[in-house]
Formats: sequence, C-alpha cells, structure tokens
Amino acid sequence: EKKIRRIDSAKDKSRAREKDSDRLKVEENVFDVPTLKILYTLSNKGVIKAMGGSISTGKEANVFYAEGPDKELAIKIYRIASSTFRAMDAYIMKDPRFTNIRNKKRDIIFAWTRKELQNLKRAKSAGVRVPEPILAEKNILIMEFMGEKEAPYPLLKNTHLENEEAKSIFDIIVEYMRLLYKKANLVHADLSEYNILIDPNNLTPIFIDMGQSVTLEHPNAREFLYRDVQNILRFFSRYGIKDKPEDLFKKIQAE
Ligand code: ADP
Ligand code: MN
Repeated sequence: EKKIRRIDSAKDKSRAREKDSDRLKVEENVFDVPTLKILYTLSNKGVIKAMGGSISTGKEANVFYAEGPDKELAIKIYRIASSTFRAMDAYIMKDPRFTNIRNKKRDIIFAWTRKELQNLKRAKSAGVRVPEPILAEKNILIMEFMGEKEAPYPLLKNTHLENEEAKSIFDIIVEYMRLLYKKANLVHADLSEYNILIDPNNLTPIFIDMGQSVTLEHPNAREFLYRDVQNILRFFSRYGIKDKPEDLFKKIQAE
C-alpha cells in the first residue's frame, strides 16, 4: 500500500513556524482513522499524489495542500471530533435538499460536505469564479488549489489595493452575487473579505467557503443575502464605495 508522502516544503512560510506539538494536536483531531482510510483510498486511486502541509485551521474544518495527478489541490477536511456544528445544523435542517438525513453529527457533516461540493458546482456553472470542485467523500472535499507554487492566493482582507482596483474588484463581486442569485439560485450566506481570495495576476476575486450557501427556497435566504451585502459594503467603504445596502440588495435581485 502506497503511503501518503508528506511534503514539508508545502508549508507556507508563516505557518511553518507552528510548533510541532500544536501541529500534532491539530492532526490528531482531524486525521482520525476513517478520515485516514479515505485519504489512503484516494491516494491509491491516484486522485491525491501527495499530501502537503496545512493551509488553514478553521472552526469546523482544516484545509491542506496536496498534489494531484495534474494540478495542485486543496483538501478541506471537516473535523468529526471537534467541530462546532450547531451553526451547520441550523443551516442544513431548513434546506429542502437535506430534509431526510438522520440527525446525527457525522451524517450532518457528510451532508454539509456534499452540499459544499454541489454549491461550488452550481456557482461555477453560473459563471462565478470558485475553486473547481473535484469530489466529496464523507467529510473530505477536494477542490482546485487557488494559488501558485504551494502558496495560496491572499484573502481580500489581506490585499492592499488602490481605490480603482478596489472598485473593479467590488463590481465583479456584485456581479458574482447577482449570478449566484439569478443563475445558481444561491446565496453565499457567509460572504465577506474572509471568504474571497484575490488572484494577484489579474486582481480578480474568487469566492470560497460555500458549505453554508443556501438555495432561494431557504426561509432565510434574503436575510442572508442582505447580510452578505452589508459585509461587502462595510469592507469596501474604506475605498470610498458608498452604495446603500437596500439599493445593492435590490440590484442583485433585479431581472
Ligand atoms: P473555513 O470554514 O475554515 O473558513 P474556508 O473554506 O474558508 O474554510 O478555507 C479556509 C482557508 O483555507 C481560506 O481562508 C483560504 O486561505 C484557504 N483555502 C480554502 N480553499 C482554498 C483553495 N481552494 N485554494 C487555496 N486556498 C484555499
Ligand atoms: Mn472561511
């Protein structure tokens, strides 16, 4: 059986400083036996050629760098053991696509992972730039790595922009919100400078983190859209963008 090779150079410089003990603690929580089994199977199938270092440790999931057969991958692993999944529960239970799953933590997490894959697919089909979704298996989501040479693209939050650059990024974000709403029938529902990457080659946005995105049938879809609009306007106000949330909210939903 092939072993998953660790690529130590895959660690981003800032993250490489992580103490070993901290890293082990994280890995213990995320790489439980069932998760490792899936990773080995995917490795044997050639979906994953090599596992790399940690890109992110979030509230519910860890994201790792990996090498695929022909491109770089990002592997998002939802933690079964230590995730705060109360929020997930509230989101997913009202989504008509997921009404008959058993109310068990693992099943909710698996459904959530599949939902993120589906949401990314719908977003991509609608013309929104997102990481290309590749597969979801239990609590593991595999997607295209958005970055270069093992370094992920920066979050919008960490990007320094001129006012004109910010304005053009803002316009694309609004267009993506409209495409999501009108074509994909989706609201991102956690959109902010923390879930948008910036491709430094052409200063264009990439939406990420769509596990919580909901269809328009969700009873709170418009409320979530309004919150997304407010988050985006709050961030871009520092670049002199002063649209009113009510106006932008209407514009996104207009025919
Ligand atoms: P969380 O639920 O923990 O917020 P995200 O999906 O937002 O999970 O991912 C966490 C971080 O991992 C992001 O802020 C980003 O830096 C990185 N990341 C996520 N997906 C990708 C990807 N496809 N390519 C590169 N980096 C990614
Ligand atoms: Mn996120």
